[in-house]
This record gives sequence, structure tokens and C-alpha cells, in this order.
Amino acid sequence: MHRSALFLAAFVLLPLAGDPGANPKLKAAAVAEVETQATDLIRLADSVWHFAETALRETRSAALLASHAEREGFRVVRGVSGMPTAFTAEFGTGSPIIGIMGEYDALPGLSQTTITSKEARVAGAAGHGCGHNLFGAASLGGAIALKRLIERGQLKGTIRFYGTPAEESVGGKVYMVREGAFKDVDVMLAWHPADRTQADNGSSQAIVDFVVEFRGKTAHAAGDPWNGRSAADAVEAFTHGVNLLREHVRPSVRMHYTVQRAGDVPNVVPDYGRVWMWARDSKSAQLDAVLTRVRDIADGAAKIAGVEGKLTVQAGDYEILVNHEGSRLLDRNLRFLGPISYTEEEQSFAKAIQRTVGIAERGVVGAPQPLKVPAPTEPEGGSTDVGDVSWVVPTLHFSVTTGVWESPWHAWPVVATGGMSIGHKGMLHAAKVMAVTGADLFVDPALRSAIRAEFTEQTKGFAYRPWIPAGPPPLPTTP
Ligand SMILES: [Zn+2]
Repeated sequence: MHRSALFLAAFVLLPLAGDPGANPKLKAAAVAEVETQATDLIRLADSVWHFAETALRETRSAALLASHAEREGFRVVRGVSGMPTAFTAEFGTGSPIIGIMGEYDALPGLSQTTITSKEARVAGAAGHGCGHNLFGAASLGGAIALKRLIERGQLKGTIRFYGTPAEESVGGKVYMVREGAFKDVDVMLAWHPADRTQADNGSSQAIVDFVVEFRGKTAHAAGDPWNGRSAADAVEAFTHGVNLLREHVRPSVRMHYTVQRAGDVPNVVPDYGRVWMWARDSKSAQLDAVLTRVRDIADGAAKIAGVEGKLTVQAGDYEILVNHEGSRLLDRNLRFLGPISYTEEEQSFAKAIQRTVGIAERGVVGAPQPLKVPAPTEPEGGSTDVGDVSWVVPTLHFSVTTGVWESPWHAWPVVATGGMSIGHKGMLHAAKVMAVTGADLFVDPALRSAIRAEFTEQTKGFAYRPWIPAGPPPLPTTP
């Protein structure tokens, strides 16, 4: 009592001194609420790891997490924003509303057992090569810890968990943003499994995902080729044009494509061609100009080949809008929690993986890495639909070690460590970061205003316009 009175007095007199947010006792309570869930959360993460369901097919994974939340006393809404595998789980009432995102989709073809060399658990099946089995379980665990503190009257407000499908394909969050699912939230929290533990103050890349199709006329390639109009010719002209364009885009632009169709046999002039392409840049706004040029190239290619051309945008993500106030808060909490520690067995497991892959045998690193100073100005790595959320509500993002240092990502080592104790430890740690950071945000209106003020400044004059086409999400039509 005496100590908390002192703490309050110091806070009132010197609002800038010390760390804002929850007091250490409340933070310790938040951590304890994750620890008591350890068995449950590991079970959830392992089940989702075994289900290994790909984008928009995460039926069992979503059902498991949603029913777990329901048993915990959350109000669950399933089938959010037209996606059967999207859900929200909410507890508490009134302001503030703190949101936590979880993912659970796997990647095709990455099935792997928990050993230190490449070996599929089920040949040809999917695997959690991005660690989303841990992502979903940890985030839900963090939400449950906060829910229990609300229930006991230690926090006031609403905690809302977002089960967000299809991060690896069309970006379920983009559909949820479009439907306004985040519009009343004060602050969103998200994390990602990684080879290191760090508060993220660097962005991701904006991306637009589209297909270019060409339709021509078949003819005998030797008998009457003059009657044919080749979609394969258009594909060639198009990809050549794209490769010429590379010289005339910003250095930050990345363009990659695959030719999905360009005919079946040489003696038939192909009447259908299809190129699947992604363009990325550091800013979503800069992609419009790239897309305009690519459209012109598609039109030009169609003219060259005398065929019809059509470009269809399928999906796209914004770059993450970094909230630096939020990154500093996460950084303080990573330091408050300290390093994740590993047994000798876990370290030799990690080093054996590194040996197999051919990278430095540094093992697994659980110490929090410092914030990048200065904050990166160019995005790092790939793209994520967390980006879209970050433009409509302040979003705090961090990474936690679930894989070996410098592990190749979207690859078997991530699946291997994600299904054993290294992944479990990272998952529980991430849940704790969520819980203590959530506690900070619930108790400290000044902290929330500082985060909001930065967001408002950054988004001045900005109007969100999703890349996705109008209409419902592209649900799978085959089982
Ligand atoms: Zn991922």
C-alpha cells in the first residue's frame, strides 16, 4: 500500500520520470496469468502445428482457438468479414479497447518433423514454415491473461482477440479492415515468430498481387499458323516489357512473376496465357505508378500478339506504419521480461539445424536485441496484412525467437523448431509480452494518447483504400 502510494505520487509529480504503464506488481500478475496457461497454450500450438491448414482452409485451427476462447468466457463471433475461418473473441466492456491479432495458416509443401534435417511428416503436405501455429496460440494466451485481469477488476475496459486467416495468401486482415472490424480499437498488438527477439521499428514492404491473362486463337502451328494468335507470344512480350521496366523504377521496387500457362503442346498455337505477378515497394502509394506502367505493358504485349489482354488485381498489403512510441514500450517490456533461456539440449538441436543448413552455429538466441537505432528507413523482408491494420489503428509489433539464429524462413527449420520446446518457449514469451504490454495500455491513458497522437500525425490527409477487389473473399471452391 505504502509503496503504491509512493509510486502514484511520483507519477503525478514527475509524469516523465521512469517507465509509464502498469506497475511491476500488475505486470507480474499478467506474466503469472500466462504461466498458468502453459499446458493449454502448448496443446493449442501443437494441435495447429499438426493440422497445418493453408490459407482460408484453417477450419480446425480456427475452430480450436475460437472454442478455447469461448470456454474461457469470451464472446466469440465466427465467420467474420465473409471468412468462415475468421473470428473475434471479446471480453469486458467499455473503453479502452485493446486488440490482439493471431494467425494460424500454414504454407503448402513444407511438412516437416521435429528433427534437425529435412524430412516431411506427411509427404507433400503443408507445414508451419512461418510459425503461425505459435502466433495464434501466443496471441490468444496474451488475450486470456488480460481477460482474467479484467475479470478480477485489476484492469478496466475491453480485450478483443482477432483470429485472422490467410496471411500467407489473400490477407484475411485486409477484408476485416475493409469491413471496419478494427474501427473502434484504441491500440492493436501483434507479434511474429522469428530468429530473434526484438521490438520492431522497421516496416514491411507494400505489395500488389495480380494476374495478367491473354486470350488468342488456336491454329495448327505448322499447317495454318497465320490463322492463330498466340497467347504465349503475348506472355513473352509482357515479361520482356516488365524486365525492361526494372531499369526505370525506384531501387526499392521488387517485381517477381511466374508464367502459369503458356500453351500445352508446341503444335497448337496457344490461345490462353497467364502470368502471376507481385510488385512490391516501400510505400503502398508508390505502387500505383508501377501498376500503371505494368498495365500499359500488358496492353502493349496484347497488341503485339494480336490477342486480348487483361490485368486483374487479386490482393495487396500496405507497408506497416511503425508507431515508435509503441516500439519503445515493447522494447521496455522485452527488457522487463528478460531473455528466454534454453537447455543445452535445445542449443545442440539448434546448432545441428544450422550445421545442416550450412550457416554459423550460433544456436538459438533468446536475449532481447536492442531497438534498431536509427530506426530503419527502408522496409525489411516481405509483406504482411498487418500493414493494412496499422494504417487504420495504431499497431504495435514485435518479434520473438521461435527458430534458430539466422534460420531460413518459410522453410523446414521453422517447422521443426515450431513443433518443439524452442517454439513453445518463444510462444509463451510472446504471450507474456502481449500481456504486460496490454496491461500498460489498459492502465495508462497518457501512453495511449501518445501512441494515438503519433498515429494521427502520420496519417494526416490519408484515406485508406484497400488493394483487394470489390466483393467477397475468394474462398476455396475445392475441399
Ligand atoms: Zn508469417
